[in-house]
Amino acid sequence: MKLNEIRAAEAKLLVRTYDRNPINFVGGEGVHLLDENGVRYLDLLSGIGVCGLGYAHPAVLAAIEEQSRKLIHTSNLFYHPGQAELALRLTEMTGLDRVFFCNSGTEAWEAALKLARAYATLRRSEGHPLGTKILALEHSFHGRTMGSVSTTHKPNYRKPFEPLLAGVEFVRFDDIADLEAKFSDEVCAVCLEPVQGEGGIRPVSKEFFAAARRLTQQTGALLLADEIQSGLGRTGEWCAYQHYGILPDVTTLAKPLGGGIPIGAMLCTEEAARALSPGMHGTTFGGGPLACAVAIAVIDTMHRDNLLDHIRRTGKYFFEQLQTLAARHSAVVEVRGKGLMLGMELANAELAKHVAAQMLERHIIINRTSETVLRFLPPFIVEPKHIDQAIQALDQILSSASAANLSAAVQGAHA
Ligand SMILES: *Cc1c(COP(=O)(O)O)cnc(C)c1O
Repeated sequence: MKLNEIRAAEAKLLVRTYDRNPINFVGGEGVHLLDENGVRYLDLLSGIGVCGLGYAHPAVLAAIEEQSRKLIHTSNLFYHPGQAELALRLTEMTGLDRVFFCNSGTEAWEAALKLARAYATLRRSEGHPLGTKILALEHSFHGRTMGSVSTTHKPNYRKPFEPLLAGVEFVRFDDIADLEAKFSDEVCAVCLEPVQGEGGIRPVSKEFFAAARRLTQQTGALLLADEIQSGLGRTGEWCAYQHYGILPDVTTLAKPLGGGIPIGAMLCTEEAARALSPGMHGTTFGGGPLACAVAIAVIDTMHRDNLLDHIRRTGKYFFEQLQTLAARHSAVVEVRGKGLMLGMELANAELAKHVAAQMLERHIIINRTSETVLRFLPPFIVEPKHIDQAIQALDQILSSASAANLSAAVQGAHA
């Protein structure tokens, strides 16, 4: 099917959950995607932070081919080698002790929330006071299933689905006094993304993260760090919390873990893991042989090619280039982020929308999040020349937007 047919069919047949750009992708290689007309796009979003090794990476292809010949699915009623081999790598990378495998980000986060509740139940049975309340941060994003969306701040994502999970309260972003005021032994979990993704690429401060660690340690509540977007090297460390020198009790990984094949993981300490015993939680597909084999290939490739180093270097270069744009264009409010998880906040939502659309016109994929923020989540294998291409395009778009006076340029984009 071609784009127009697909659009017509989807408009009739699919539940209306997405507002897609009118481009039909049929292939990809490296950092580029190919549309049905053979037009090449530079992808600086990598799915949404998923394709860390880019498209058609030989290691990913080989793992899929090899493992699919051997075994695609068994069930969690039996053993296969993949989960233990992947868990060995993940526990070493994160500093945590045990892993639960699932199929997506939101499922990993659900597992984290359920673990926190179960752990509080266990602690109470052992005579410690620990309640069931959960604290999350304003502007947070933890996923779309009921528990995850209950800890997600944006009203549009929450409101229509109420009533949500009881006992969730939001703390003002980076506000230690607000955290202290809302924290008590009624709280079983404090949730945060070390670098908020969907919320606009906002790293939490060292002081706030440390306060969350200190308070939770005092009562035995769990500190949950959502690394679904920021984890697996994205920020230049395996987990963003490693920049802070803080170890949470629980973390979640997903997006780039399977190189495009769905897989998620919830990791926790030995102490927290005491709360779950066989039968309490599970999944049919989670940690299947194919997904594990691909995730192992992704991680081994990242080690072999020293990608963490590459991410740090190219991330620093990208950040600096964005800062030179900020110096040249008054419409740029701030550049934020770590490694290859970067955001550039613009003066208003219309301008951000205009710039993202104009980038797509020039066959460069980025996206706009939190209304005013341009988000860059390029594949880990991105090279400085790709960054230069994007910076040059951004420079031109920002210049002509200001020359034509923003509102006129915006009208032109929608004409
Ligand atoms: C994407 C994301 C999720 C949800 O992951 P899905 O795989 O879409 O369910 C949760 N938390 C964060 C921080 C994310 O970026």
